[in-house]
Amino acid sequence: MTFLYSLNCAQLNPPIPAIQAATYCLVLDTQQGLALVDCGYSTQDFLNPPLIVRLFTWLMRTPRNPQTCTLNQLATHEINPSMVQHIILTHMHIDHAGGIADFPWATVHVHCQEYEAARHHRGRVGIGYVRKQWQQHQHWAFYENPDCEWFGWPAITLPLTPTILLIPTPGHTPGHCMVAIKQQSNCWLLQTGSAAYPFYLPAEQYPVHPPVWLQRWGMGGYVQSLKKLWFEHRDQITFTSGHEFVKRH
Ligand SMILES: [Zn+2]
Repeated sequence: MTFLYSLNCAQLNPPIPAIQAATYCLVLDTQQGLALVDCGYSTQDFLNPPLIVRLFTWLMRTPRNPQTCTLNQLATHEINPSMVQHIILTHMHIDHAGGIADFPWATVHVHCQEYEAARHHRGRVGIGYVRKQWQQHQHWAFYENPDCEWFGWPAITLPLTPTILLIPTPGHTPGHCMVAIKQQSNCWLLQTGSAAYPFYLPAEQYPVHPPVWLQRWGMGGYVQSLKKLWFEHRDQITFTSGHEFVKRH
């Protein structure tokens, strides 16, 4: 079993739109140790928040409770954090990459365009990068060129077993990637990150329908092609996303 847990490591409760949403960190078991897909905020982000973290968590009404951080949630699952050897990032925005600081020994796998965008605050939401969260980190693995195809999508194979792929989907950020994780029986788990809202959930769990232009601007225009992928292969692919709606206020 590759997939172990999906941890909600930052609740979003924005007043507009009036919804509650989760921010997910996936915990995977690989032959090279445990791997996270995204990692939320670090404990120091909540205990001693930089100004931008204060601002963003206030805008999103995210409780700054260190117990929700990935590091502490692992402990509640009786996982020693030292077992985490890899962190795979969909992108490096404030609420996805902050947790790197709690795992200074882990190798961070990220698309090189994303790292460069984060260093220079590039992209539509360039303000959403906080260098202070990860600029001290020592262990990085950068990727650029696809080496295979996954259901017709160009993909990059990570040096992990079972197979885990980065699928470049620039748009939300310049180096955004989805992450495909091979499961037992040739089935896959697809973390779409911020390339799609959770159209694959039942309608009552999908309370926000932003206009198409806003989806295209905010997520890069992949929703229609991902809906097609879901429709044609949902028996083989389980979908999830970086944020999923929990309910309306
Ligand atoms: Zn983002």
